[in-house]
Amino acid sequence: MSLTQQNPALAALLATHLERLCAYEHMSEADIRARIDQGTLTLLGNPGHKDVRATLIGQPARVKVNANIGTSPVTSDAAGEADKLKIAENAGADAVMDLSTSGDLDAIRVRMLAASPLPLGTVPIYAVAQQCTEAGRDPAGFEPAELLAEVTKQAEQGVDFMTLHCGLTRRGAELAQDGSRKLGIVSRGGAILARWMRRTGLENPLLTHYDALLDICRKHNVVISLGDGLRPGAGVDAGDPAQWEEVLTLGVLAKRAWAAGVGVMIEGPGHVPLHLVQAQIQGIKRATFGAPLYVLGPLVTDVAAGRDHIAGAIGGAMAAQFGADFLCYLTPAEHLCLPDARDVHEGVLASRIAAQAGETALGRPWAIARETAMGDARMKLDWKNMAEAALDPCLVRQRSQGTEHGKECGMCGKFCAIRMAEPEK
Ligand code: SF4
Repeated sequence: MSLTQQNPALAALLATHLERLCAYEHMSEADIRARIDQGTLTLLGNPGHKDVRATLIGQPARVKVNANIGTSPVTSDAAGEADKLKIAENAGADAVMDLSTSGDLDAIRVRMLAASPLPLGTVPIYAVAQQCTEAGRDPAGFEPAELLAEVTKQAEQGVDFMTLHCGLTRRGAELAQDGSRKLGIVSRGGAILARWMRRTGLENPLLTHYDALLDICRKHNVVISLGDGLRPGAGVDAGDPAQWEEVLTLGVLAKRAWAAGVGVMIEGPGHVPLHLVQAQIQGIKRATFGAPLYVLGPLVTDVAAGRDHIAGAIGGAMAAQFGADFLCYLTPAEHLCLPDARDVHEGVLASRIAAQAGETALGRPWAIARETAMGDARMKLDWKNMAEAALDPCLVRQRSQGTEHGKECGMCGKFCAIRMAEPEK
């Protein structure tokens, strides 16, 4: 049986949204179905998420952008996070992840699901760790059954995709912590699981209970975002044995998921110097059999704190050009504090610029059409159409205020090159 035949929730979702998806992605029905069955395209959308805008991730669909929001133990304001969700949507994000780690996590998640048509992702181990600490236990003091119960609950609530670090093995954790890395483990979920394995001496419960996870995810069409718990947290660590140990395991797990009727994405780096981005993206794609690739950045330099959205957009553009499918945003607050509303807006726009640049390099027709529209509008000094072609129309309108159609702007004034090139009257 094909992946879709094994997954009735996915088949029903696809039937409902196929016409819109074909038009938006410039793909035929047969192509979408074939690629979903192959696993190289996946459909985000849990039928339990009311009015979800089912979204395709993978080749050759449009490159998508995700915004991470959510409370932290330092800043916990559920209403503020709900506002950020709207800001992310208005800025053009295709999906959001609720990474909340404090407050009433169920209430926050359910509120976000009700408020957002965008697919919503979570990292269920955060909720389990929070339950442990609230009960006075170690954050890694949970039983595997508690983890499975949390995944089940969130799937029933309507969560569309979940980061599950199933590929983090004991061997991988040892490689990351043997002193050969600059920064051992920088993933929160990865660190909790490594701690759990160290305390118990057992293998990762998300790996040993993978079949049970697949059963839950298939029932609700939850796409598993196979987490990169050992992603490099410093450029100098990119491509080390710990990272590849996990990537190879993720490839095996992707195949198992497809055979069980479950869609997956592979999460990718992390901090990767510019000259290694192409090899990283193509290598991960190859090792995971063309599964949709969801990258965090990659950040091409470690020293852009305060402007990590720029470091991430440079890497994101290259990643998109070489095959990444889904860009997780970085904001100016990365590595520093919880992003505020302005950071969320800037982060989404930075990733959308990266997606546009990558897709233009790939020759995607919709990206080329947008570039052409801007060139045409600029040649005509057509400020209305310039705003419409821009990724942030509001900003263009705001900063060009007072500039009349057909007239130069305040940048060069009477030395406007376009006006000077016009035939003299
Ligand atoms: S004034 Fe300068 S920046 Fe403005 S439209 Fe003319 S050439 Fe472009």
